[in-house]
Amino acid sequence: MTEKWVLPERYQLNDPAKLKLAAQAQSELAKKANSPFTNLSPAEAEFVRAQRTENHIVKIINDVDPVTQLTLRRKLSDALAAQGRFAEAVEIEPSAAKQEELKAYRDAGSFLCSCVNEGTWKNKPFRVTAQFVKRQVWNQKPFIGCAKCGQIAQVDLPSELVKQRELRQQSRDMAVKKDVKGLQKYTAELLR
Ligand SMILES: [Zn+2]
Repeated sequence: MTEKWVLPERYQLNDPAKLKLAAQAQSELAKKANSPFTNLSPAEAEFVRAQRTENHIVKIINDVDPVTQLTLRRKLSDALAAQGRFAEAVEIEPSAAKQEELKAYRDAGSFLCSCVNEGTWKNKPFRVTAQFVKRQVWNQKPFIGCAKCGQIAQVDLPSELVKQRELRQQSRDMAVKKDVKGLQKYTAELLR
């Protein structure tokens, strides 16, 4: 028989002072979310959804059977991660493998590696950054992952990725307009 899992103290919002703080922290975005006159960006909407999921699960998680509890712990961990609260997510997450993933975000530093992918394309050598946007949380700097060394850093979007993003948007526009010349130029630019 394993020991009964109980939500860590800080989530048991039965203390009026704690409740008040939590409510204050969430109220501004909630106000915006509940107003019929504002449009939330997808990132804001995801954040608000995650807060609601958290609030709901926290109320019921100690009173359900162990199997349901495991499912709820996974969902709560996801909801905390979606709010950028990775340290708490690690504590709640039941799977060891997933905990390791979450720790990488929790421990993300502000040092960005400079790995590049090199190769040849149409007999011409090219170098492109090995970094990519791995995760974005509303109101936080993006998490940049590296496909080469595997590190994750939380930094402002690197200029190469800003450029790539702009080029990708342009290429989408060109694909819609069936602009073949433009697309060729785009590919050349991307590989420069
Ligand atoms: Zn790297």
